[in-house]
Amino acid sequence: MRAYVIGNVTVDETISVSAMPEAGASILGHEETRDLGGKGANQAVVMGRAGLTSILVAAVGDDFRAEIIRSQLAEEPVDARLVRLSGKASDFSIIFTTPDGENAIVTTTDSAGSLTLSEAIRPLAESTAGDLVVLQGNLSDDVTRGILEEARRRQLVTAFNPSPLRRFFADLWPLIDIAFLNKGEAESLTGSGGQAAASTLISAGVKHAVLTLGGEGAMLASRAGTLKIPAAAVTAIDTTGAGDTFMGTALASCALRGVPLDARAIRHATTAAALTVSRRGTRSAFPTKAELHAILAA
Ligand code: ATP
Repeated sequence: MRAYVIGNVTVDETISVSAMPEAGASILGHEETRDLGGKGANQAVVMGRAGLTSILVAAVGDDFRAEIIRSQLAEEPVDARLVRLSGKASDFSIIFTTPDGENAIVTTTDSAGSLTLSEAIRPLAESTAGDLVVLQGNLSDDVTRGILEEARRRQLVTAFNPSPLRRFFADLWPLIDIAFLNKGEAESLTGSGGQAAASTLISAGVKHAVLTLGGEGAMLASRAGTLKIPAAAVTAIDTTGAGDTFMGTALASCALRGVPLDARAIRHATTAAALTVSRRGTRSAFPTKAELHAILAA
């Protein structure tokens, strides 16, 4: 089984601040890291490091950030199919982190938002039924829906993380097999949290709904029932990429075992995400290949 991650790739600039800036404020900060990021790239990197064949389809511009992206992706076990958009800026994120481990992120989407449907689905021509298509919220509405429809035609398994959040995502559930939502996303898209949110998703056609609840762990729901798995106890240093580590590990865990999403995959994801929150940065904070292989063997 292969995973086609169709999404964004960015350069992440992490700046530590003593407190989040208020509107209109000028504050001092300190550059912590410059790292490969973007939800698409993050999930592709985690799945690749876990040992799953991971194909990343993402757009970049023709600027210095595209070079940083290319060279950092070349260090990863990811088959990067980057679409170069001339005259566009590559996407980047500015991440503020505070001493208590909270973060606030601004991500540009000039490149990701310009990826066309034909560019996005071209690599799916080589897919086979049962392969995974993994999507997040950075592409345009039409392209996001078009990819999901193409995946259905090809009998691929669709996994979706509706982040960054857009209301339009609430119309997509019938096209989604596996959904990963954090607390805020669940509340905004279903009008409720916890079990009620999971039930809404399952009634709308999602086969497996995963709600991630930060330090409180995660919930896995399907028609068979719901189970809650606690988070691993760690000191949170920087939560950037926790959700992406969680989703990438859970998907890799079940894909590599050839089973539907199960409690074991969520436990693997919980352990992997705890490593990410205990370190600074994005890609540099993710579990290594060796760590992921040990986690998935448990
Ligand atoms: P982010 O946007 O920061 O990447 P998210 O909002 O998508 O994350 P969360 O629900 O915050 O997702 O976190 C995903 C998973 O990461 C949680 O289900 C949990 O397993 C792990 N995690 C997050 N915060 C903590 C924490 N403080 N301690 C232990 N594990 C954590």
